[in-house]
Amino acid sequence: MRPPECCICDREFNPQEEGGLIYFKRRPSDEAWDRDMKEKGYVGHPPYAEWFCKDHYDIAHDLKHLPIDEALQLIKDTE
Ligand SMILES: [Zn+2]
Repeated sequence: MRPPECCICDREFNPQEEGGLIYFKRRPSDEAWDRDMKEKGYVGHPPYAEWFCKDHYDIAHDLKHLPIDEALQLIKDTE
């Protein structure tokens, strides 16, 4: 896992106090990533998960039914 830094505003934060990691809808490439990592026994930061600070957590949470690239684009468009 990468250290908690909001993927929208780049602010580092303490996830025990605010914000958190959001897992978005997996694209076929993300499902392939999961299978690959499982087969190899690796752990890593999933390409479909990102950290969000308290300012961006709620909007990200509302969009987690979307693939991450679409969700991030929507959030950045509303910034
Ligand atoms: Zn943020």
